[in-house]
Amino acid sequence: MKPVKTTCPYCGVGCGVIASPATDGTVDIQGDPDHPANFGRLCSKGLALGETLGLGQRLLYPEVNNQRTSWEHATSLIAEKFSAAIAEHGADSVAFYVSGQFLTEDYYVANKLMKGFIGSANIDTNSRLCMASAVAGHKRAFGADVVPCSYEDLEEADLVVLVGSNLAWCHPVLFQRLQAVRERRDTKLVVIDPRRSATAEAADLHLAVRPQSDVALFNGLFRHLYGAGQIDGDFVREHTENFNATLLANNEWSVAKTADACGLTRVELEEFYSLFARHEKVVTAFSMGVNQSACGTDKVNSIINCHLLTGRISKIGAGPFSITGQPNAMGGREVGGLSNTLAAHLDIENVDQRNAVQAFWHSPYIALRPGLKAVEMFDAVRDGRIKALWIMATNPVVSMPDATAIAEALGVCPFVVVSDVTANTDTARFAHVKLPALGWGEKSGTVTNSERCILRQRALLPAPAEARADWRIMSDVAKAMGFAGFDYASPSEIFSEHVRLTQMGNNGQRKLDLTAWNDVDYEALQPMQWGGTRPFANGQYQTSTGKAHFIVTDYVALPAQDMTLNTGRIRDQWHTMTRTGLVPKLFAHRAEPYVEINPQDAALLKIRAAEVVEVSGPRGTSIARALITDAVQPGSIFQPMHWNSNFGGAGLANAASHRKVDPVSGQPALKSSAVRLRRFAAQWYGFGISTQHFVPRANYSAWRPTDRGMAFECAGEVLPRDWGIFLYQALSAGGEVTSLGSPHSNLFRCAVVNEGRLSFAFFASAAPVEVSRVWLQTKLGQHVNTLEVLAGRPQQESEDQGPTLCACNAIGVKTISRFIHAHPSAALDAVCAGTRAGTGCGSCRIEIRRIMHEAAKPLAAAE
Ligand code: SF4
Repeated sequence: MKPVKTTCPYCGVGCGVIASPATDGTVDIQGDPDHPANFGRLCSKGLALGETLGLGQRLLYPEVNNQRTSWEHATSLIAEKFSAAIAEHGADSVAFYVSGQFLTEDYYVANKLMKGFIGSANIDTNSRLCMASAVAGHKRAFGADVVPCSYEDLEEADLVVLVGSNLAWCHPVLFQRLQAVRERRDTKLVVIDPRRSATAEAADLHLAVRPQSDVALFNGLFRHLYGAGQIDGDFVREHTENFNATLLANNEWSVAKTADACGLTRVELEEFYSLFARHEKVVTAFSMGVNQSACGTDKVNSIINCHLLTGRISKIGAGPFSITGQPNAMGGREVGGLSNTLAAHLDIENVDQRNAVQAFWHSPYIALRPGLKAVEMFDAVRDGRIKALWIMATNPVVSMPDATAIAEALGVCPFVVVSDVTANTDTARFAHVKLPALGWGEKSGTVTNSERCILRQRALLPAPAEARADWRIMSDVAKAMGFAGFDYASPSEIFSEHVRLTQMGNNGQRKLDLTAWNDVDYEALQPMQWGGTRPFANGQYQTSTGKAHFIVTDYVALPAQDMTLNTGRIRDQWHTMTRTGLVPKLFAHRAEPYVEINPQDAALLKIRAAEVVEVSGPRGTSIARALITDAVQPGSIFQPMHWNSNFGGAGLANAASHRKVDPVSGQPALKSSAVRLRRFAAQWYGFGISTQHFVPRANYSAWRPTDRGMAFECAGEVLPRDWGIFLYQALSAGGEVTSLGSPHSNLFRCAVVNEGRLSFAFFASAAPVEVSRVWLQTKLGQHVNTLEVLAGRPQQESEDQGPTLCACNAIGVKTISRFIHAHPSAALDAVCAGTRAGTGCGSCRIEIRRIMHEAAKPLAAAE
């Protein structure tokens, strides 16, 4: 079969992929060397796309009340329920909650149906959790949601400032582009992040600011730049407004006061301010650490203010750059996927624009005011204002803050529809109607990446069973509700309509003008950027005066709280793991839910390494493994947001997060929840491997697929009466059982050999289980020495490679350490070449460097 050029569906970098399906059902995945986002590179997640295409976990047929049904029945039932709710309670009694995983064409139809035909703006998206503050900040400063930079600016800059962005893990290919440039030229990298992330480790300067103090930092920078004469007077005079008020407001931010607010030394602060002042070509790139905040919009504008002051915007290598998290967060913004925007960057609250969109759509209604934002929407579901909710391509029971409230809301909602690829998500369990949607390999349409580049996703596989495109599912429901204007035969027809809407009455007034896409060959569409490389290069902004706005930004300190929970992403997983969770090697780097805890807090709370801890919020508790590290500050913990009940459930980070939002953007403040942390009083810990799926019933449990079966971790407050009962599901499957220790004690091990091959092993201990997990996992299904298995590690130390660091080539920490000890003067490239670690996607090279650094410490101390 012919290779297909398409786009990675994970992060906002938008890497080009060449997917080559083979006749044996496998799909080879390569980076597209000609693609302007990645030039052939892919990260560990992108490289593993071919392993996510199986149908095992798929939703393949429509279901009503968990019973298979026909599309006709499901479609008419949805139309009937939504129409009845609207007739009885009004248009605002229904809602759509959609996703940055949507293609632009899906987003366009969803928005048109809700805002133009149902007549409500109750459509919001999980992009609200991702970049709503950037959208609001752009609109306040530029008059429109336009990102003023391009990826090439990151490569052209002399100074790159990353704020609240773990680029190395969350946008790995973009980070590798930056690192490659830094090897060629002396680009300075400053990372501003309370946490010493992998990205921070690679920086020339890491400012470990106090959580939520970014506004103070940039207000102080503004004052410093002005004081140092680093103002571009002509630019400020001719192209901006509200300068004097902003200068006056920022005047209080002396270096001493700013350093105090940010928890930094004056020396650190002055070093950063001096770097910014000295470099004309500065890009400040920001991501979730800025956006997911109770003052996220002000953070965005405090950054933009500094670029406007110095005129370092829309020039080569200069500007504020929002890096989007989701693959199509940007495309959704273009077609009005947020509840407070209209399509084509037009405004709901502008009556002329509203009427023009209604006329364009020939729609019976048009939403007259913004709808409910994500957190408000689920509140309205919970208190009964929303009677019918349709959730598409997202899993809010895991990803929304205060997950308990989301589950409660769905539990009481009279009618919940879920369209998804995966059959059994935490959200789908609440659905009255489940609709099978096409997955990445089957979908066809467009997405827009962080630099405004419109990219094609192309189908490489046929639709499985009865799965359908989201745009088609919604169009059929719209028609069943009696609406005209949804007779689309293909995504290209929808795209053409979207293109025409961006042109409607535009006359160059709106940067989002897709005239260049008129009459393009949709199938052959090449990556193309709207707005040009730097949309404001002519100094004309989209405000009523054509000038950019300085915004007075108020610093609001994080209130004193016991412990601050920062949730985020890890290197090899994506969102709620509905796809990456299918790939064993993507669990190799981080195998189970964990909480990063500072050693001071750990000592205070008597938490030892690898024990299990409880993180409690107002209404929920999460249980996860303790990872003690000074990468987080005292008083702060970090927990990945990915784990959910399909992989254990106890480690659901959003069980404990709070529901505070930014007052302007409505984006949840997921980086600063007030929580309590305590040691979980475990009487026992367990680890096991199995060729068959095994669910340990314990307070803490987490499981993961492995190449030969699965592995699980568990811990409990009360010792099981008998391990034979606890393990009954596995032990009753047959085979010869060999055990050590008493079945009634917390010192117990057993192994099951079936027809000569290892099928199950379990290790219990009073403390966290210390065995060679990776080695044991390789023994499943093999002829083994049972006593060696029960010992938990190989007789030959050289066979133990330790925890996996390089997911691409399955290289462990111990293998890398042994090489470094044998070759103490080897440089990074030599270590990578000698071990093969870091020679796949390259995302683990920072961690390899850290191991080298740690290994060199005793030598340095001795010298
Ligand atoms: Fe996909 Fe990785 Fe590229 Fe993001 S950086 S688009 S996850 S390959």
